[in-house]
Amino acid sequence: MTDHTHADTLRTPIVAVLGHVDHGKTSLLDTIRGSAVSEGEAGAITQHIGATDIPLDTISGMAGELIDPSDFDLPGLLFIDTPGHHSFSTLRARGGALADIAVLVVDVNDGFQPQTEEAIDILRRTGTPFVVAANKVDTTPGWNPQDGEPIQRSMEAQSERAKSMLDENLYEIIGQLSDAGFSADLYWRVQDFQKNIGVVPLSALTGEGVPDLLTVLMGLSQRFMKEEMAIDVTGPGEGTVLEVKDERGFGATVDTVVYDGVIRNGDTVVVGGQDEPIVTEIRALLRPRPLAEIRTEKEFEKVGEIGAAAGVKIAAPDLDQAMAGAPVRVVRDRTVDQVVEEVKAELAEIEVETADNGVVVKADTLGSLEAMANALREAEVPILRAEVGDIAPRDIAVAETANQDEHKAILGFNVDLLQNAESDLENADVKLFKNEVIYQLVEDYERYVEEKQRAQQ
Ligand code: GDP
Repeated sequence: MTDHTHADTLRTPIVAVLGHVDHGKTSLLDTIRGSAVSEGEAGAITQHIGATDIPLDTISGMAGELIDPSDFDLPGLLFIDTPGHHSFSTLRARGGALADIAVLVVDVNDGFQPQTEEAIDILRRTGTPFVVAANKVDTTPGWNPQDGEPIQRSMEAQSERAKSMLDENLYEIIGQLSDAGFSADLYWRVQDFQKNIGVVPLSALTGEGVPDLLTVLMGLSQRFMKEEMAIDVTGPGEGTVLEVKDERGFGATVDTVVYDGVIRNGDTVVVGGQDEPIVTEIRALLRPRPLAEIRTEKEFEKVGEIGAAAGVKIAAPDLDQAMAGAPVRVVRDRTVDQVVEEVKAELAEIEVETADNGVVVKADTLGSLEAMANALREAEVPILRAEVGDIAPRDIAVAETANQDEHKAILGFNVDLLQNAESDLENADVKLFKNEVIYQLVEDYERYVEEKQRAQQ
């Protein structure tokens, strides 16, 4: 699996998909996976935990004349399976973004929407190169799909009406990108993908333009990101926790994307925990079984080691306090203490400023906690306490200590109220807000404060 003869090898670039709700992120990921599967025999894609690996061979099979595989030495593309900028900002690696590249999905009829703008802000802040997927071209009135044609030729073959409608919408998106400070153009006109954002018209529904998108992503990585992909394949594995999950027979496990080095069964690892870094020994490295076997056998197969870039489930004792978004580091060539300090330093970068009085914030991951804290700072809402995890009795007790009425509130982002906290909440003078969209959560809270203040006048 891992090539031990070369210390320096190029790993697969990690790709994330972002965009406004309903613009087609999930459909695009499904289509990429689906067409990759139908492209070749089983094994044309490798299903990882939390990610899908599309090898170069498969991409070139799908892209036909668009790509010459001999131009590439990067192995393919690893797509993170959970779309959305929430998961994107959660997934950090050494202070930066875990994803090397992003696909920003924009509904070609709908243009930029609030979450498109939010995603752009995050991409700008993290300096992540991206490509725009102008999705749903099939909904253009009069659109007539040209099977198997590159999207540029397919567009040329459309009726005048479809052409002009689509052009208008695409130029609207290019204009909106320009308003956001990015120069952009249709991808076949872009020479330098670092200076200009390539826009790829496509349909996640019919699959038109999807090979073009994969080609652009591959070309962008190969031309501009090759150095960043050079890793020491035998070095100590480094990764990021996607999710903490209880798994029958294994207890608490962490789904991890490995972006550097190699993780081996039996390795000692340090994982960012809710209170302290967790030091533990790997009991099993798990991957999904090959697609055909999923229903007949246990869901996972054990592997001896896993090299970057890959998604893997780590089973080890004491992982129940692990945090989504936190680092995972293998202890090799260094002492446990050194690695613990590294993990602490990495976590300390995620700073949330708290005050003596304010709201209690709970979020599902470190990244979302940070995003919540940023949004609240902009809205000038002070934070009393901010933590990762579901809403527990302790949080209600803390919220009650806030000494201004409007502050006696808990803002929960992507978290649940624990059952044993339900009666505490009923009996407390604390208002709970829960939402899966940050700006709505902040807006709900602000509206509540305004109403309260108005009632008092
Ligand atoms: P997400 O919220 O961004 O993940 O969006 P989804 O992938 O769930 O898509 C939202 C809706 O748009 C679903 O009903 C999809 O079937 C539909 N959709 C997505 N892509 C396309 C497309 O290319 N063409 C058409 N006609 N519908 C699409």
